[in-house]
Amino acid sequence: GAIHFAALKAVGESVEKPLLYYNNNSAGTLSVLSAIAQSKCRRFVFSSTAATYGEPTTMPIREDTPQLPINPYGWSKLVSERMALDLRAALPDFSCALLRYFNVAGAAANGTLGEHHDPETHLIPVILQAALGQRKKVVLFGDDYPTPDGTCIRDYVHVEDLVDAHIVVMQALQPGDARAYNLGIGNGYSVKEILDAARQVVGRPFEIEIGPRRAGDPPELYADPSKIQNELGWKARRTDIAQTIESAWRWHQAHPRGYEA
Ligand code: UDP
Repeated sequence: GAIHFAALKAVGESVEKPLLYYNNNSAGTLSVLSAIAQSKCRRFVFSSTAATYGEPTTMPIREDTPQLPINPYGWSKLVSERMALDLRAALPDFSCALLRYFNVAGAAANGTLGEHHDPETHLIPVILQAALGQRKKVVLFGDDYPTPDGTCIRDYVHVEDLVDAHIVVMQALQPGDARAYNLGIGNGYSVKEILDAARQVVGRPFEIEIGPRRAGDPPELYADPSKIQNELGWKARRTDIAQTIESAWRWHQAHPRGYEA
């Protein structure tokens, strides 16, 4: 089987450089699927995203919630999902699993692997960079959303739970399957809750500035992950947000320059 993880994943950048996203993410998936079609490989597990749902009107998000992306990143992944489904229809023994990640967070418990993007745009690593003195402050993108504390709510799933899900899914795939699963913990944390938890974990002050909303950020996104639990028995185990942040904090402290030499 093949697992296709590689992609660009910054929403804002995808708005600025849409063709880069279609080229890297959609055409990249086309290349992988073309190679699979010409090989003996018949199982395909794909890293998709909650961004394919856009701004759903119902919460939590189910796999049959309509997919209508609101940015090129989400579209580049939805196009990739479509290609895999169409290939499945054409190749009877091919099977695919479309795994729709929510907000992936945390680092490997053994300290070896963590999260490094350049530029960094994701909330938890941005906070940890501020705590390390690598950036002046954390800008909170909007505190006037229609949520209990006014900040956006997301579903933060630990990367090691995600790894477990890929193994379970790959082992379950049967010829002809086309499966889609949400990978999330099933409840959301607000940006303020993440900031509070992170402050406890890092035990040092960092500056927070309330800024304007970021374009394309829906108020609330969290998964209904019951389909994969019911069908395959997977559910997120590492659901304590403080522990998730702590795993990332250990990695960021040990690797202040990420994967740079
Ligand atoms: N966010 C923020 N400041 C930052 C980065 C993110 O307030 O510097 C907010 C963002 O508006 C969203 C949440 O944190 O509500 C998670 O954003 P992230 O970029 O980590 O993931 P996304 O939800 O875009 O995939």
